[in-house]
Amino acid sequence: MNAPLLELAPALWTAILAHLRQQGAGVRESGGFLLGRVRKGVRVVTSFLPYEQLQADALQADFVHLSGASFSRLWDYCATHGLEVVADVHTHRYGAGQSRSDGENPMLAIAGHIALIVPDFAQGPVGLEHLGLYVYQGAHRWTRYRGPTVARVMTFKTPESEP
Ligand SMILES: [Zn+2]
Repeated sequence: MNAPLLELAPALWTAILAHLRQQGAGVRESGGFLLGRVRKGVRVVTSFLPYEQLQADALQADFVHLSGASFSRLWDYCATHGLEVVADVHTHRYGAGQSRSDGENPMLAIAGHIALIVPDFAQGPVGLEHLGLYVYQGAHRWTRYRGPTVARVMTFKTPESEP
């Protein structure tokens, strides 16, 4: 895969990381959905919806868990704002590898959905090469990008005004 699949403004990404860092406070996982639009196969992120905004206790357990009601809220939010879920992101205490649960329970079990993992509860400096980027292929299979390969599929672009 050579063409970037996931695109977002640098300022938005910085804001997302700041939120995750603050919300997790160095002691727990945090995360949320990246919303936007899929254009010609490219997932363009335009906003971030933190899990705790969908469900107050989403981050209380050791890992993120969302109820069915939270997904109903998510679909309502997307419909109201004319957005699609293009990816999700969550932090891990240590590395950016997928846990068994992450691999078996995609937040969105739709082929092409992207899951990002930010290491160290997003407390350290986070470059693309530190992330784990996972593209869901269906049937619990993922294409995994780590280290320098992440930059091949995730790119920063300041949005241009629509023609
Ligand atoms: Zn995880």
